[in-house]
This record gives sequence, structure tokens and C-alpha cells, in this order.
Amino acid sequence: MSACGITDSLPVVIIFVDQQDRYGFANKLAEIWYAQPNGELIGKHIHDVHAKEFQVRLIPYQNRVLAGETVSGQEAIAYPDGVTRDIDLTYVPHLTEKGEVAGYYVLIMDITGRRQLEEQIRQSQKMEVVGQLTGGIAHDFNNILGIILGFVEIVRGRVKDDPDLVRYLEIALEGTKRGTAITKKLLSFASKVPGENERTDVNEFVLRMKELIATSLTPSIHLENHLADDLWPVEIDPGDFENAILNLSLNARDAMPEGGSLIIETANKVLDDHYVNRNPAAKAGEYVMISMSDNGSGMTDEIKEKLFEPFFTTKAIGQGTGLGLSMVYGFIERSSGHIKVYSEIGEGTTFRIFLPRAPEHATESEPEPDGQIELPRGGETILVVDDEEALTIAAVLYLEALGYNTLTAGNGRRALEILDEKPDIDLLFCDIIMPGELGGYQVVLAVRESHPTLKILLTSGFTKQPEAHAVAESRYLGKIVGKLLSKPYNHEELAFAVRRTLDADEGSD
Ligand code: ADP
Ligand code: MG
Repeated sequence: MSACGITDSLPVVIIFVDQQDRYGFANKLAEIWYAQPNGELIGKHIHDVHAKEFQVRLIPYQNRVLAGETVSGQEAIAYPDGVTRDIDLTYVPHLTEKGEVAGYYVLIMDITGRRQLEEQIRQSQKMEVVGQLTGGIAHDFNNILGIILGFVEIVRGRVKDDPDLVRYLEIALEGTKRGTAITKKLLSFASKVPGENERTDVNEFVLRMKELIATSLTPSIHLENHLADDLWPVEIDPGDFENAILNLSLNARDAMPEGGSLIIETANKVLDDHYVNRNPAAKAGEYVMISMSDNGSGMTDEIKEKLFEPFFTTKAIGQGTGLGLSMVYGFIERSSGHIKVYSEIGEGTTFRIFLPRAPEHATESEPEPDGQIELPRGGETILVVDDEEALTIAAVLYLEALGYNTLTAGNGRRALEILDEKPDIDLLFCDIIMPGELGGYQVVLAVRESHPTLKILLTSGFTKQPEAHAVAESRYLGKIVGKLLSKPYNHEELAFAVRRTLDADEGSD
């Protein structure tokens, strides 16, 4: 192979510049970047090729290499072919036998992709940390709300005759409900556990939500749907998805105070390796894309970078919580999807959500049971396990009011001791996250063999995946976690969950 053949095959720009500052050699890639094919670059003066502003940035390199030094550096340069590249460049002097500098070589490598990858990794690490932090705080906060909720309900039951007190307690309950809504959002951002996924036709879903979306917008915003035919099905948590769409349309509304249009579009999309190379957060494969485009304010790069962080908001106090997009982010993560944002200041913003195509076999979802007012009761014996004592007391008060007998334990070890001492316990009602070596999952696995008929109901605010266990065990745990009672629970939710668990078929796992 000739020397030219070699330099033309390499993915680097190789240039030689002579003493008169004219190009003496340029390989194929250099010709492409400089948009000067067929050797047109040769003989041209360096100042005639680069735009002035970039030429100025290269002068220090040229001065030093002409002084006999080898110089390297990194720059971002807009090349004549219209592409701005992050580059790694090296200037090497060409020395004569006498040691005089007779021009120089320039080697340039395109590191744009690497830069983007580094940025993506940094971003995803940041989100991971923020997620852990948020999850931890929200988990504690949820327990605290559970305590307040529990005792306010209990007190409300006892002061029925004093309408003023009942009203105050209703207000307190309303407050805890708002607090609960916030922790739900935080947990939904931090959680990695998929909810109850259902096979969903995104088009149908969007059409069904049309009313709701329209009411969330102002009248001066025009709503348009462009839905693709033959859209692939997806498997998602419909509640989460609805939330995500609603959050995106609320954000679009806020970005268009003067009015504008919101366009919702669906399409089947295949993300290929090329896309994944540019967007390392994505996985290649078949997806259903839902895009929401507004022609509102758009956003700066700084905002774009922080967009998904919890509590990041540019809105006035009381108008934004900064949790909308964190929830969307959590939903996307749990759905193994991908989200991409395009935004230009003054032009508008497009959010593109990619949800993986569902496998072909259909799984029908169960119909939701209707809520009743009459709480189911029972006389069975229940062991309540929670490290948060006040929550245990609230649960015991609830359960005893329904006729159940209760025992309590403050940690996993104590729970196992009680289970061994008292053989007539019917139900283990256990928190998942407890300090000490025995969390809820460990307790469940420990009693699986020794108490095969014991019914189990787990509770948690923060559903951590039982990933640390062997596959068979985690499938077993997964079944139980699927029927989890999430915190904070109220009297009614507890009553139904307990009854349902007690009445569940033997060997239904
Ligand atoms: P919030 O809406 O409560 O501020 P979000 O997490 O939903 O919180 O959004 C965070 C921020 O992202 C917003 O405050 C806004 O600055 C920006 N943003 C989100 N969506 C858009 C959009 N469609 N157009 C312009 N900016 C947006
Ligand atoms: Mg929002």
C-alpha cells in the first residue's frame, strides 16, 4: 500500500503545512472536513481555509510548532464542511538535517462521539445518585406521613361528636394527602421497579386522553394528533404513562403563555446502532415513539441539562414543583424506554418518548375491583412487623378495630422468634425495608420452608427490587411483592389488603 493509501484509510486528519504557511499535503479526511476535494487544498494558504475566529485560536499552536515544539490540545472547531467537531490535535515540527523548522505536520482526531459519551455517563451517574438520595428521603418521609395519617384517622374516629374537631382533622388529612402525592412522585422517580404493566395501544390511549389533555391546556393552545397506523403494542404502567403525558402537556402549556400548538405524534421507530452511538443512553431495538411538540419558549442548554432532576424548576414558587419531568424520567427508566429532548430558544420544544415494542403474545389485564364502603373484617391472628413503632401501633389499632388479633415485632429477627413461639399466626404483615440483617425479603425467605401455610402481606413505600436473590427465590418474592401494600396506607386499604391476602388460595404462588 502506498503512503497515501495508508493516510487516506486512517480516521484522522493528516496535514503538512510548509514554511510559507501553505498546505503541502492533506489526506482524504482533511479534504472532506475542509470541503476541498481532489487536491484543491494543496498550495492554499492556511488563512484562506479556516474562518477567522478559528484561525485565531490556532495561532498559538502554529507559533509554538514553528519554534520547534510539538504541541497538543483540544478544541471545538466549525469546519468548512458545516460540521462542528470536538477535536484532539497535535502539531509536530518538520526539521531539516540542520535542525531548522521547515514546516509542520498536523494530526487531528475527531473526539465528538467520545465527548458525548462522557457527558452521557456523567449525566446518568448524576441521575443515579439523585435517585438514590431522593428515594431515601422519600422513604423516611413516607413513613412519617403514614404515622400522621394513621393517628389522625384514629382520632377522627373518636371525636365524631365534635364537628369542629372533625373539620380540623379533615384539613390535617387533606394536608397529609398532599404530602403523600409529593412522595409518590419522588418515589416514582427513584424507584426501579416496574408497576403493573399492561399491554397498551398507545394510539387508543392518546385518543382516550384527548379530553383530559385539552382541559389541561389553555383555550389559545391548539391540540393536534398525528397518529400512525399499525402502531406496535407496548407494555407499560398505564397510570404512569397517563401521568407522563399529562406532565408533558402541562409543561407545554406553561411554555406557551401566549398560545400556540401542541402536536402529539406517534410512530413505530427502530433505533439503530447509529442512533445509539450518538445517544448512548438508548438501546438499539424496536420502539413506539410518542412525541409532544410545542412552539413555546424553548430552553437553554443549561436548562436542558438539569431538566429531569427532581425539584429543578424555572417556574415561580407555587407554579412549579420541578417534579413533573423527574416522574417522566422514572417512568421511562422503568419501562426500559428512552427519552430525547429537542429544544430551541424561541422556537419550541419536542419531547420524544420511546417505549419498547411489546412481544407478540397478548396478555389481558384483570378488571379493577370496585371500591366498597363496608370494610371487610376477620378474627385471624396477624403479626405486624415494622421498625417504625408508631406505624406498628397505628396498624394494630386499625386491625383490632376490624376484629383481628395482633402481635408485633420491631425487626426481622424478633418476627422469626415470635413465629416460632406462636404456631397459630395466620398472616405476616411485614415492612420490606428494616435495619439489621433481616429485612422483609429475608424474613419471607426464612419462613418459606418453616411456615408453608403462613399468609404474607408486604408493605413498603420504597419498593426495592429483590435482585440480590437467586432467580427462583426472586420469582417467589416477585409474586409476593406484586401484591404489596404501598405506604402510606389508610384504614380502608389495609382492611382490603389483609382480607385479600388471608382469603387468597393456598398454593397460588
Ligand atoms: P415544573 O413544570 O414543575 O417546573 P418539570 O420537571 O415538569 O417541573 O420541568 C422542569 C423545567 O423544565 C421547567 O421548569 C421548565 O424550565 C423546563 N421545561 C419543561 N418542559 C418544557 C417545555 N415544553 N418548554 C420549555 N421548557 C420546559
Ligand atoms: Mg412540569
